[in-house]
Amino acid sequence: MGLTVRVGSVPALPQRTPATTLSLTRSPCPPGRQWPEVTLKALGERTWRAPEVGEKNAVAGTTKMGKQKKAKKYAAMKRMISLRDQRIKEADRAKPKEKKKDDSSAIKEREVPKYPSCLFFQYNTQLGPPYYILVDTNFINFSIKAKLDLVQSMMDCLYAKCIPCITDCVMAEIEKLGQKYRVALRIAKDPRFERLPCTHKGTYADDCLVQRVTQHKCYIVATVDRDLKRRIRKIPGVPIMYISNHRYNIERMPDDYGAPRF
Ligand SMILES: [Zn+2]
Repeated sequence: MGLTVRVGSVPALPQRTPATTLSLTRSPCPPGRQWPEVTLKALGERTWRAPEVGEKNAVAGTTKMGKQKKAKKYAAMKRMISLRDQRIKEADRAKPKEKKKDDSSAIKEREVPKYPSCLFFQYNTQLGPPYYILVDTNFINFSIKAKLDLVQSMMDCLYAKCIPCITDCVMAEIEKLGQKYRVALRIAKDPRFERLPCTHKGTYADDCLVQRVTQHKCYIVATVDRDLKRRIRKIPGVPIMYISNHRYNIERMPDDYGAPRF
């Protein structure tokens, strides 16, 4: 055989224990007779097998490696090929996904809430004293922070009688804020405030206020929440009261109403 082994490049293989030991321990069988089955079993049959990795002296003197710890397999999964793999017969293979073509000329449909157009670019002239002002939770909190009395500051802003209104949702929101906002809760329960009962689903105050001003254009909304302001600006005819420069200000009201704006 033309097999050449370069010594040194190949790690030395463990020495095989000769499997011929069996025949050596057994005395030759007399002619014409067979060894009984029991004797064969008693002698045992030893065949060589390669020691497994980390196995301690599987065959004496064959391995001198230290104990190797097998890393535990975590989250081992059976490997699967995808149904679109080339190795699967073409008849069974899943067909490649067809890409949908983007038709840029198609008209895109989008739901946009409808608002009445009668008050676009116009002031709501139906509003007049006394002004009903829907108060948001954070408007009360920021007023306390700025040490502003709600009713007094509203009148300073509009130069007219103002009735702050608290909806059930806003009241619930203040109550949920807990002990830290007890001052806000006491202000909200002021007898000068009008309480508006809610019949709608849910208790999200922003939705509650938006829904109210969409249906009835007789309110001013008082808030400092940027998102709520943005939502209300989309509804025509609803002025927004906010806090700036330690006083109340109003947007979307004619300039000759109330105090001069900054
Ligand atoms: Zn409500």
